[in-house]
Amino acid sequence: MEAVKAPRGTRDILGDESWKWAYVTGVCRDVADDYGYKEVHLPIFEHTELFCRGVGDTTDIVEKEMYTFTDKGGRSVTLRPELTASMVRSYIENEMSKGPQPAKLWGIGPMFRYERPQKGRYRQFVQLDIEALGAQDALVDLEVIDFSMELYRRLGLRNLQVVLNSVGCPKCRPVYRRVLQDFLSPRFDELCDTCKSRFDRNPLRILDCKSPICKEITEDAPAVTDCLCDECREHYERLNRGLEKIGASVVHDKRLVRGLDYYTKTAYEIQSGDLGAQNAVCGGGRYDNLAEAIGGPHVPGVGFASGIERVVLTMEAQGCSFGEKPESKVYVVAAEPSARLDAMALLRELRMNRISADMDYMGRSMKGQMKAAGAAAEYACIIGTSEIEKGVVTVKNLKEGAQEELTAEQLINKLK
Ligand code: ATP
Ligand code: MG
Repeated sequence: MEAVKAPRGTRDILGDESWKWAYVTGVCRDVADDYGYKEVHLPIFEHTELFCRGVGDTTDIVEKEMYTFTDKGGRSVTLRPELTASMVRSYIENEMSKGPQPAKLWGIGPMFRYERPQKGRYRQFVQLDIEALGAQDALVDLEVIDFSMELYRRLGLRNLQVVLNSVGCPKCRPVYRRVLQDFLSPRFDELCDTCKSRFDRNPLRILDCKSPICKEITEDAPAVTDCLCDECREHYERLNRGLEKIGASVVHDKRLVRGLDYYTKTAYEIQSGDLGAQNAVCGGGRYDNLAEAIGGPHVPGVGFASGIERVVLTMEAQGCSFGEKPESKVYVVAAEPSARLDAMALLRELRMNRISADMDYMGRSMKGQMKAAGAAAEYACIIGTSEIEKGVVTVKNLKEGAQEELTAEQLINKLK
């Protein structure tokens, strides 16, 4: 019988990689603290309805990618494919509108999408998610974009590009829809099948179709930013002035769209030149009508989500530092089997003093233990009958080879 394997599109993140994740997560937490965002832990599954209404029935996520199942109580639940809808649900349910506005929330955790797995694209992946809820000022959009740039700056990422667009609002988008449909209709028959079906339902999505023919057809399509209403134009200009003020280099891309009614105004991505096809390290924007779409009051919001796998991949490709790899400082070596209990006692004392330490549990010889020490630690602390008699340990610096006898107290003071 073959041993059971992990499902396709999932990965085990093991010790030689997980320390990098801990580093990246720590930096996320630092930036969130500095920007005044509070961490939240939300459920990994929600009512399916939340995503149908909060992500959108015509999106790839809802149409093709959700892990949906009926639980034993007969309810349809879905493993969250993203966090924004849950954040907005939580804001409404917990009456955060009564607290300081905007409510600034962040979270990190696994998301689930049934996609074709490839490098940087998995069926279970981890997202960092930031949302500012309750404010419509373009300066909040600026803060969110700045947050993502600052995060990547601290992680040492280079060669990143902020790609920006505005998708208007339910006032001006219908105008643009018509302009776009008029532009596309002479070549309707050439569009790919998916885009033919999008033409009436969600024509903006045709702009981000990856098929070469659709790309070619939309090359000279009118830009949504040319059709914005006064309010959306002012918002976009204010954001752009702000980005200029903080020295952000931005490219404008009319193809960057989110076609649904509750996505409003700002849409942005940060792309890396070192990620190949899956080039977006984060994506975000404004969604002033999402709260209403899930049955709540009007709550403007803006945020971004970043895939941590892609961040780690980009950092590796660029040779960025992940800080220091945690390693044992000390390996306690028992010179004779009879000294193992004393070795264990020393080990415990070191650990209580926050000195990372380990020892052998496999009954290895002295030579075997020294070898293990060399592979795992900076110092070997040898303890045997003569050391026990003298009340000391022999401390060997494994890099320099120097050796000295120290009491446990001296050892702890030296290493702390
Ligand atoms: P893409 O165009 O790459 O599919 P998306 O528009 O579906 O991205 P969002 O829903 O905006 O992505 O999610 C935000 C971020 O989450 C992405 O920029 C990416 O870093 C990450 N991400 C999205 N889907 C996956 C996945 N299947 N595997 C790994 N990371 C992902
Ligand atoms: Mg996707």
